[in-house]
Amino acid sequence: MLDFEYARHRMVEAHIARRGVHDRRVLNAVRRVAREQFVDEGLEEFAYEDSPLPIGSGQTISQPFIVAKMAEIAEIEATDRVLEIGTGSGYAAAVLAELAEHVFTIERHRSLAQQAERRLNATGYRNIEVRVGDGTKGWQEKAPFDAIVVAAAGTSIPLGLQEQLEIGGRLIIPVGEDLYSQRLVRVTRIAANKFEEEDLGGVMFVPLIGEHGGHDENASVR
Ligand code: SAM
Repeated sequence: MLDFEYARHRMVEAHIARRGVHDRRVLNAVRRVAREQFVDEGLEEFAYEDSPLPIGSGQTISQPFIVAKMAEIAEIEATDRVLEIGTGSGYAAAVLAELAEHVFTIERHRSLAQQAERRLNATGYRNIEVRVGDGTKGWQEKAPFDAIVVAAAGTSIPLGLQEQLEIGGRLIIPVGEDLYSQRLVRVTRIAANKFEEEDLGGVMFVPLIGEHGGHDENASVR
């Protein structure tokens, strides 16, 4: 039987801190989330290898390093309301929920959203709301958000998401037409009609599929 707690601490030191995530709150959040409970049965032994893993519906649970990196650059505070697009397994939502007051998360695949909700309930998270839908439209009824984290790559930055940011709020999104390589962008709403954009480096994400700034249904990475 694998010692998951030991494996988790090792992963944080070897793969996350060493590769440049230094925010203590973020590292502690990753140390607290039992990733083995967010992967499919039979894959638990790979939960701490710092790689994406299949979760069904052709999707993947994100690599822990990128979850930590996005949480760090989102600069999440304990009183923040955070929107995540692309719930997937629910793992990143759990990490965000360790950092924020409340997390709202949207997934386009009903089966994944339901599975994530079950996992988040079973692991004891009470500050996360999961919804099925097209996240490129955001979640207007719950806006504004202090941070929005998009876990899939859009072809452009959805304007609607920017407008659901609080003043001072940060939107973290992988952007690019290429299915195999995108740029990680942080958009900060510095005033009602003023947004600042920063390029934070190259990444590779599954496509964001939706009406605004997303790919169409046929986009897929083989
Ligand atoms: N954050 C997840 C985790 O920790 O398991 C992994 C996310 S996975 C890399 C990306 C997810 O985004 C997929 O589950 C996919 O179905 C979802 N997705 C893609 N486009 C979407 C959209 N427009 N709205 C909501 N979810 C979307």
